[in-house]
Amino acid sequence: MAHPLLDQVDWPAEEAAALELLQALVRFETVNPPGQEADCIAWLADRLRADGVEPTVLSSGPGRANLVARLPATGATSGHPAGPLLLNGHVDVVGVEAERWRHPPFAAEVHDGWLWGRGTVDMKHMVAMSVAVIGLLARLGVPLRRDLVLAAVADEENGCAFGSAWLVDNHPDLVRAEHALGEVGGFTVWLGGRPVYPVQVAEKGICWLKATARGSTGHGSVPRRDNAVARLARFVDRLGRRRLPLRPSPEATRFVTALAEAQPRPARDLLPLLLDRRFSALVTGWLVRDEAAARNLDAVLRDTATPTVLRAGGKVNVIPSRAEAEIDGRIAVGSSQEALLAELRRLAGPFIDLEVLGSFPPTPAPPDTGVFATLADVVADHHPGAVAVPSITPGFTDAKFWSRLGTACYGFAPVRLDPGGPAYADLFHATDERVPVAGFGAGLRMLADAVARLCVEPG
Ligand SMILES: [Zn+2]
Repeated sequence: MAHPLLDQVDWPAEEAAALELLQALVRFETVNPPGQEADCIAWLADRLRADGVEPTVLSSGPGRANLVARLPATGATSGHPAGPLLLNGHVDVVGVEAERWRHPPFAAEVHDGWLWGRGTVDMKHMVAMSVAVIGLLARLGVPLRRDLVLAAVADEENGCAFGSAWLVDNHPDLVRAEHALGEVGGFTVWLGGRPVYPVQVAEKGICWLKATARGSTGHGSVPRRDNAVARLARFVDRLGRRRLPLRPSPEATRFVTALAEAQPRPARDLLPLLLDRRFSALVTGWLVRDEAAARNLDAVLRDTATPTVLRAGGKVNVIPSRAEAEIDGRIAVGSSQEALLAELRRLAGPFIDLEVLGSFPPTPAPPDTGVFATLADVVADHHPGAVAVPSITPGFTDAKFWSRLGTACYGFAPVRLDPGGPAYADLFHATDERVPVAGFGAGLRMLADAVARLCVEPG
């Protein structure tokens, strides 16, 4: 049963207003780099003031800005007073190849029941929903048993230095929370014909590397066995073909077990073999029909190292003394930078040096707070037959920084999807990024219900 507060709301009007809000956000071209989020944030601040919420705007650099708003706890609390709940989203987006889009990426047009545009999925929709929910609670004047905080931030798509990382370093008291809802999760994944809602509880770490192969220089007309370009190419080829070892952490086990329980037989019995070194590759290669889902599962269960940049030579007849590759390494939950580097050194052999360019450890799941159970109830009540699963994200989100303040972070930016459409996970950073209008409205209700259950006294 949804929180009774939801009965007081004119949902068609709220959904239409939230959609307009999202359209306005998409029309700010906050492509990062350079981001230039300040105008978008200033507009959001005005929007919140119209609902009677006074936000704080914090500039982190020229053209860069973040917004924090707070609805303070008011009512007498029954039971334990909880720390703040933080709703968070980033307003920067990745770039576009505009000529490849079916509809212009910054016009926020609605076609065929979908709102098209960069940021509709990653993740201005969550910013719009969060502003709508805070505005709604402010207008209704509902007493809260804990502070509700909103953070709309810059710079997530380029490492967070002007966004969540900057807020956590410079204004920790403004954003410190007990729990947070943000990326990645809360959307429908149709798996084996069943609706599943991943809710991120943990995320992988990063270890970006440079590999340098060395060899002797010489004239291109006389081949040499110690050619740096060929040495690097052999290493890159090994990286492309080898899977690094499986890391069945408690988080991974919980994720796979929950996924399996949501499936009919035989998938229910076979999916747990993902956690078995002997069968894991077989399961992702054969049982999981959806290729995007299979790749994603494979990536969250192990360390990965993806070659992304190559540099060598400058002239066709000169053998260069060095060749370089950049490698996007990702650290599995339960693994470490040292473990990843040890595997890569083994593959690299004696003629290749590895240098760490930058790294962040994985974000492990918080201890069980009951919030996941609440979100799972919301999913089940709003989408009959659907199940929430505690997932791991292969990528990187603002949760990396919020969690440094002790915040338990959950990926819950809800959108309901019908079967047969594009896989939602494939829309992130994609050409033709779009969100279904009806599914966004359903998501708004789910987020409002989750916030009501977590912050408002029942009845
Ligand atoms: Zn994002």
